[in-house]
Amino acid sequence: MKPYVFGVDVGGTAIKLGFFGPEGKLLKKWKIPTRIENSGSHILPDIVSEMEKTLAAANVDWADVEGVGIGIPSPVTEDGIVLRCINLDWGVFSIPERLRKLQPAIQRIRVANDVNAATLGEMKHGGGKGRNSIVMVTLGTGIGGGVIVNGKMVFGRSGAAGEIGHICVNPDETERCRCGHRGCLEQYCSATGLLKMTRRRMAQNPEEETVLRDMTDFTAKDICDAARDGDYVANDMLKRLGRRLGIALSAVAGTVDPDVILIGGGLSSAGDILFDKIITYYRTYAFHAYQDTEFALAKLGNDAGIYGCMEMVYLAAMEEEQEND
Ligand SMILES: [Zn+2]
Repeated sequence: MKPYVFGVDVGGTAIKLGFFGPEGKLLKKWKIPTRIENSGSHILPDIVSEMEKTLAAANVDWADVEGVGIGIPSPVTEDGIVLRCINLDWGVFSIPERLRKLQPAIQRIRVANDVNAATLGEMKHGGGKGRNSIVMVTLGTGIGGGVIVNGKMVFGRSGAAGEIGHICVNPDETERCRCGHRGCLEQYCSATGLLKMTRRRMAQNPEEETVLRDMTDFTAKDICDAARDGDYVANDMLKRLGRRLGIALSAVAGTVDPDVILIGGGLSSAGDILFDKIITYYRTYAFHAYQDTEFALAKLGNDAGIYGCMEMVYLAAMEEEQEND
């Protein structure tokens, strides 16, 4: 195994890069803006140029780099074919192929969905340390999900395994999700969903009192703070979120039966006021065999992606070594 690895987490606004040394030690992390113009055609060249600058500054040759792991915000197949990434304005193409054209000296290239990669990062270095089977959901603008079973990242046929946010939980919903369907989990349980549902309730029940009415423009964090201060409406909205998510996660557990379920993303910083509700409803609805599944908060925050991308490269290298033994 060669001593160096790059982990690259590509997001819609920023690309986070990590340069890792022997034993997975993070030597340097930094980020650059994501240039989406011209159908995202600058993104991979920008990444290659950043890696080259870093290697030159560290006096390291590509020959000493085991590989590059990349996470992207869309479904990706196990061999690195991106299947339309709306956030990056990418169509369908092979990332390893394009990257090798830009820099033929890159040895190993691994690509995965960003949340799947982050889940691997949490398993190796964060909230899922020491576990082998993990489900992670991230509650942010949308809902992301990642699944690892017996130490292996699950990709699925179309690279969409772990897309928990678009599981339909309410076929009677009238508004559309960003994916075009109606009633997706993320319409209710993401930070954006919580805000929308709270506003909807306040509009439909103008007589109902809540401190949120005194704020001109409240956020998901304001709802969590109000709930903590005893506001009935805010607390009830978190209960509803917890119920929907708890039920959805019990369905996921019925498929995967993981060692631990991790909750991450911006909304997870609400802490126990939300966490306890998710767990309570999960335990109410989950089948007895997995009713006591452990829950934990994700720990690495924004760094989970680069760690997971680095680990993908190590896992692939280790698998190959075992095969050659
Ligand atoms: Zn959807």
